[in-house]
Amino acid sequence: MLFSQVMKHVPFYSLDYVERDLGSLLGESVDAVIKSNWYIRGSHCTAFEEAFAAYCGKKACVGVGNGLDALTLMLKASIILGRMAEGDEVIVPANTFVATVLAVRAAGLVPVLVEPAIETCNLDVARLADACSQKTRAILVVHLYGRLADMPAICEFVKTRGLLVFEDAAQSHGAALDGNNLSSNSTAYSFYPTKNLGAMGDGGAVVTDDLELAQVVRSLGNYGSEQKYVNKYVGVNSRLDEIQAAILLAKLPHLDSWNARRQEIASRYCAEIRNPLVRVTPIPANPRSHVWHVFPVFCDRRDELQKFLKTRGVETLIHYPIPPHKQEAFVGAVSRGELRHGPLPLTEELARTELSIPMGPSMTDDQVAYVVESINAFI
Ligand SMILES: *Cc1c(COP(=O)(O)O)cnc(C)c1O
Repeated sequence: MLFSQVMKHVPFYSLDYVERDLGSLLGESVDAVIKSNWYIRGSHCTAFEEAFAAYCGKKACVGVGNGLDALTLMLKASIILGRMAEGDEVIVPANTFVATVLAVRAAGLVPVLVEPAIETCNLDVARLADACSQKTRAILVVHLYGRLADMPAICEFVKTRGLLVFEDAAQSHGAALDGNNLSSNSTAYSFYPTKNLGAMGDGGAVVTDDLELAQVVRSLGNYGSEQKYVNKYVGVNSRLDEIQAAILLAKLPHLDSWNARRQEIASRYCAEIRNPLVRVTPIPANPRSHVWHVFPVFCDRRDELQKFLKTRGVETLIHYPIPPHKQEAFVGAVSRGELRHGPLPLTEELARTELSIPMGPSMTDDQVAYVVESINAFI
């Protein structure tokens, strides 16, 4: 082997950029929390909640323990406020991370799984009408891989039907709509470390213009209590701790530039991946509406492609190999009335053909070129 052909290694994702861009600020943020002697529901959490609400252009943000809790608590709060009832149906994309479906179940609601549009991997708006029944009360949109779903069309649809609309934005921090900010009832975020905005542990938030909903989510995450030792609701313990809040507060000012780097890498991938065996998803008309949490490619010989890339030192992952309706956790759920769906051939095709290639603000131009070259060499 020639020495010039040293095998490269491109990790699927690296968090090196955090240290690179924040340096000692991270340690200082954590030190400030340690010195404050106040670790739960203090000034750092409040400061982050205010900053993130403002960043999202919304009135309120409530920090919670993780993304699953953010989803579950915003749905439960809507039930408490009488806007939905247990047993109501909520439309969810069939090709999502399992947490979206788990949250609907945890709130006592029935997920109705709907196929994606194959181009975007997001909810196919044309299928919404057929998916609705007398019991359908809401749509829980997922902005999968960081691409905003077609919110104008979805909002139009829910308006004519009198439905609620919620967002799972666990993969889409900072993705921006054009023009007027079409509002959903409430949006759930995850700050899992590898998300576009990630903590250094678990974290999540509910962001909304609905102050009543925000208030109930806040109580639910604190044992259902607004006033110490007085319990209004049957709540849980789910709070964003001060250390995570301080880290998120330090990282937030960098989110837009990190997303811009992802968008830059994505445009190179879209322009330069030229292999008839490999399909990419197109850049949306408004490039800022996609923050490329994941860069998916699709290939009928996906497993072979993954192995081939591995021999070239390119790490990949699959999002997701088993769709929620095929999970053991949901065996029998349809016949028990706890889940509703028809045949899902597109969702199953995505699970069979999807491969996520390296993406993230740590990637160098050389690494991007090497990944492209490697994919184009697959025959
Ligand atoms: C990560 C993720 C979640 C769950 O977030 P956690 O903080 O890990 O609980 C929910 N939905 C989607 C689409 C996700 O990617």
